[in-house]
Amino acid sequence: MTTLTFDSLNPATGEVVGTHPKQGPEAVREAVGRAERAAVWWAELAPAERRLRLLDYKAVLTRELRELAALVHAENGKPAGDATLEIATTIAHVDWAARNAEKVLRRRRVPTGFMGVNLAATLEYLPLGVVGVIGPWNYPVFTPMGSIAYALAAGNAVVFKPSELTPGVGVRLAELFAESVPEEPVFQTVTGLGETGAALASDPRVGKVAFTGSTATAKRVMAACAENLTPIVAECGGKDAFIVDADADLPAAADACLWGAMSNAGQTCTGVERVYVVDAVYEPFMRELSERAARVKAGEHYGPITMPGQLDVIRRHIDDATKSGKVVTGGPGSVRPPYVDPVIVEDVPEDSPAVREETFGPTVTVRRTRDAREALELANASAYGLAGTVFARDRRRAMELARLMRTGMTAVNSIISFAGVPALPFGGVGDSGFGRIHGADGLREFARAKAISRRRFALPGMNLTSFARTGDELERLIRIVTFLHGRRKR
Ligand code: NDP
Repeated sequence: MTTLTFDSLNPATGEVVGTHPKQGPEAVREAVGRAERAAVWWAELAPAERRLRLLDYKAVLTRELRELAALVHAENGKPAGDATLEIATTIAHVDWAARNAEKVLRRRRVPTGFMGVNLAATLEYLPLGVVGVIGPWNYPVFTPMGSIAYALAAGNAVVFKPSELTPGVGVRLAELFAESVPEEPVFQTVTGLGETGAALASDPRVGKVAFTGSTATAKRVMAACAENLTPIVAECGGKDAFIVDADADLPAAADACLWGAMSNAGQTCTGVERVYVVDAVYEPFMRELSERAARVKAGEHYGPITMPGQLDVIRRHIDDATKSGKVVTGGPGSVRPPYVDPVIVEDVPEDSPAVREETFGPTVTVRRTRDAREALELANASAYGLAGTVFARDRRRAMELARLMRTGMTAVNSIISFAGVPALPFGGVGDSGFGRIHGADGLREFARAKAISRRRFALPGMNLTSFARTGDELERLIRIVTFLHGRRKR
């Protein structure tokens, strides 16, 4: 007999945090049907009214910050302080999406050009209807809300399938939204395992799917979406690089590197997994890094590994790295389930799993490079391309390295700082996925561009789109086009 419910467990203690229904295809279909109707109501509200509701939701989330942080701590395992930081950053995004949606999406006139001299042209961004959001467990508030808040602000209804590891957080996010929008189920959460997400992705009434998770699952979700030509935003994993140039502030770089690699037990899609340090500062940087790492402990500074199965991947990468490279901090003994203490290994071959595959654990590999150019080449030699970091004092040099990094985001002299800037789009290239959440791009991601051209008056002697067009009119067209575009610039 199939079980109709599943438990979410505290990854540190194994205790049951909550029991939730496994919502099958029928329940998902019903939720999407309700969302379809709610979407019409929500889209018809004046933008100012939607903004008010979303700002109210922001206030509700803020009021519930401590309670929500406790739930994130219980289901994901991260310290309550880190959960608080996650929710505070999310609140800033909800605020930005609410305040900027109208400005970014509203109707505007665009230039018509010569062919449209008698036209008025307008562009606006209209809602897609129902957006299906499939979320992960590592940042169970911040990550899905990067899609949910922007999709709602763009006038869509949302059906959210949270990870089976953090369903309680997902349910709470929708419950709190209903306090601000009680009239219609504009934001619903459906709980269950992979098949619940699959049912959502394959529902033809879903206008877009926003997926966050592994690259392998993204491909499966995309295949399901292909059946209905449903577009998808895919936020997948990363193997982010951290470059330390010769003039970097080394204590600041080491501090940022350690936090970027180990916080949230390394379970951050934009976490530091590979470090490239130029030869000139290699030894002093490594001293700074290893001294700090010695003081960081799993269970104290960060929580357990949330998904038990991930321990096998982490163990495999550590075993492989420590065989081929030189241990700086920790080693195979650092894995003491459900915790993993910090592991730093240097000189691990670039083609080994610990350097190529996403580890999603508190481990990092470090390599000495001739110069920043070589560091950049190695950083870019990855199938992933989500984000990265550059530490260098020379601003022009740092910006150049950041721009040449083949990623969607780069932080300079700071760590993961782009995630806290709501105006900046978030997303990757290559195996890290495509599409953008956050910022104006994130709002447009959940909207369809609507173009309208309206004739204002008839052009005498230029009736070109008619079977009554004359040879003289065509001649006139050729003369004008030649005048406007016929001169070569070289
Ligand atoms: P998955 O990719 O397996 O799951 C992500 C989400 O997709 C979950 O809600 C999951 O539900 C759902 N899902 C699973 N199968 C399907 C399906 N066939 N159709 C639709 N939805 C589905 O990620 P995991 O949570 O298992 O994490 C594994 C790896 O993913 C990590 O090692 C890491 O590499 C990467 N990851 C990346 C993240 C990022 O932010 N970029 C975040 C989290 C993980 P359910 O949980 O119920 O299976």
